[in-house]
Amino acid sequence: MLSLGIESTAHTFGVGVIDDSGKILVNEKSVFKNKKGMVPDEVAAHHKRVADKIINKVLEKVKDIGLISYSHGPGLPPCLLVGMNKAVSLSKKLSVPLVGVNHCIAHLSIGDLVCKTKDPVYLYVSGANTQIIAFTNKKFRIFGQTLDIGLGNALDKFGRELNLGFPAGPVIERLAKNGKYVRLPYAVKGMDVSFSGLVTKAVRLVKEGKASVNDVCFSFQETAFSMLAEVAERAMAHCNKSELLLIGGVGANKRLCEILDIMCKERDAVFRSVPQDLAGDNGVMIAWQGLLQFKAGERLIKPDIFPYERTDAVVVSWR
Ligand code: AMP
Ligand code: MG
Repeated sequence: MLSLGIESTAHTFGVGVIDDSGKILVNEKSVFKNKKGMVPDEVAAHHKRVADKIINKVLEKVKDIGLISYSHGPGLPPCLLVGMNKAVSLSKKLSVPLVGVNHCIAHLSIGDLVCKTKDPVYLYVSGANTQIIAFTNKKFRIFGQTLDIGLGNALDKFGRELNLGFPAGPVIERLAKNGKYVRLPYAVKGMDVSFSGLVTKAVRLVKEGKASVNDVCFSFQETAFSMLAEVAERAMAHCNKSELLLIGGVGANKRLCEILDIMCKERDAVFRSVPQDLAGDNGVMIAWQGLLQFKAGERLIKPDIFPYERTDAVVVSWR
């Protein structure tokens, strides 16, 4: 069975197709870009503009679609509506069933598929999010998270103050290669983390000429990544899990992967990182998540959107 998924929660309008053995056939997307940030109606206008072109391109490449899925939330309401409306009309046109899925859980499921993890602790580190998640007691539960901004946004904020360009993560990674350690605030509370104090101090050290850009980039990474390793390890011990799966755009960072890999090896656990073409928002993960739910017997009666749906509110039928 071929499953087609539509992603439209935020900046990305994506359409992907996957079969029930997990083989990815198509992964098309268009990402809204704007230096000022995301105004929901402007992003939705972008999605409306590109939607038919992307859907038609996908339908030219694959025939015999058996299921349509869309991301029903969480996300920006006008953007969610574009994706849902396209999914509804496509399911009518092709006379195939429709399934709505949670975007965050789709990130976790596609990670498990491509990294062959069975029951990991998930470390989700994107621009806006930093969360430590695990499946326990029939639900995906959030064991720890950032108390202020996501690590990607923290790196970008630091980079903006220093005119490093956007996104700053890859630039900071490069500059960090020639740096040495200076002390920065390390903020872990239980399984939660916080990055805003780290950003403030890092910016101040550079602007006051007290440390070089390279040293601060290096130390920013070492501090933030060590915080993540500590909370991920605590979650693994607490939940008794022996796999760690890194998800999200910050997962492109080689030093972060190295630190997490060392931590896992020291406790005889497995570390995996989702490849970058599937780590960002995409339609394939929605297609796969829809397929899992459909095969578990889920059927959608009335299409709807859930802009604030929490990960731990989702009833899990497929595991
Ligand atoms: P996402 O929100 O998952 O699309 O991820 C985007 C975030 O990943 C941005 O904040 C980037 O700065 C960050 N990012 C991308 N590449 C790297 C890298 N090599 N190191 C650190 N952060 C990165
Ligand atoms: Mg996402």
